[in-house]
Amino acid sequence: MDIWVYAEKNRDGSLTREAARLWEFAESLRRDRNGLLTDIGDLSAEDILDSAKKKPPEVILFASGEKTKSLAAILAVELDAGVSADCFGIQCTDKKIRLHWIRPVYDNSLLAETVCTKNTHIALMRIAARDPSLTWHETIPIDEAEILVCVGRGCGNGPGMALAKELAKTIGAAVGATRAVTDAGWLPLSKQIGQTGKYVRPRVYIGIGVAGAIQHLAGMRNSDIIIAINRDSRAPIFEYADYGIVGDLYTVLPIMIEDFASISVHKNKI
Ligand SMILES: Cc1cc2nc3c(=O)[nH]c(=O)nc-3n(C[C@H](O)[C@H](O)[C@H](O)COP(=O)(O)OP(=O)(O)OC[C@H]3O[C@@H](n4cnc5c(N)ncnc54)[C@H](O)[C@@H]3O)c2cc1C
Repeated sequence: MDIWVYAEKNRDGSLTREAARLWEFAESLRRDRNGLLTDIGDLSAEDILDSAKKKPPEVILFASGEKTKSLAAILAVELDAGVSADCFGIQCTDKKIRLHWIRPVYDNSLLAETVCTKNTHIALMRIAARDPSLTWHETIPIDEAEILVCVGRGCGNGPGMALAKELAKTIGAAVGATRAVTDAGWLPLSKQIGQTGKYVRPRVYIGIGVAGAIQHLAGMRNSDIIIAINRDSRAPIFEYADYGIVGDLYTVLPIMIEDFASISVHKNKI
């Protein structure tokens, strides 16, 4: 029985961080199994099926992503395999590999755990992106953040976005977005909060230039404290906000950044 890992490699053939992490998962399961790491590159489902149909592996591992989710769905149908999306971990019990599919359900209030019983298991592992061009606060998964700055269309993709990110950096917050922002390609889909994005429940949510559409509210209204900054006093988000600032973000954010920065300088001196 085999474990196949499909992941991006660097141009020089060395392992990317993602590939190395997936290989670690594979190593933890291998025992007497064969492991095979293949560069996913431009591989299609048909390319993988060519090999997999001859001798189906026990496990196929991908990093969770849009492309790999589509590949996994096709492979699962063709190989009659089980798929576990967004896995946090895998365990090996006796000779059987039990894939633990752990994911939040019921508005993040419970974690569900599923065990795959098919002969071939396909797992999409959650591996946090660590793009070196991003500062650490931009890499915090939005559904794990305690403090979250949400960028709305009102921020635009220029100086307003930069100010929102600067605020996030100053207070150690993760950066999330509305669908208007991810649709425009200003931030990746992984940052989207709402009905068709992620459900979040931080201790503090700060919406900047966010109108508060029902689909967005569905993903964040259970946050402990909601702070909204919007120049339109009739914006629906104010109905849900614990603290509302009616004002232009270009005026409000520099003041907040300066104030929070001075608090942290003060704290460091104590
Ligand atoms: C089926 C479906 C699913 C959807 N799923 C989601 C989802 O998961 N998540 C989601 O977010 N949306 C979702 N949407 C889209 C949603 O309906 C809204 O269109 C979207 O949330 C609006 O994003 P926004 O608030 O950033 O933009 P806008 O509605 O354009 O609001 C921008 C706000 O910024 C304010 N503003 C502008 N300039 C400034 C300034 N200088 N200073 C301060 N404030 C300013 C404006 O007053 C306005 O209130 C979905 C829609 C559909 C139909």
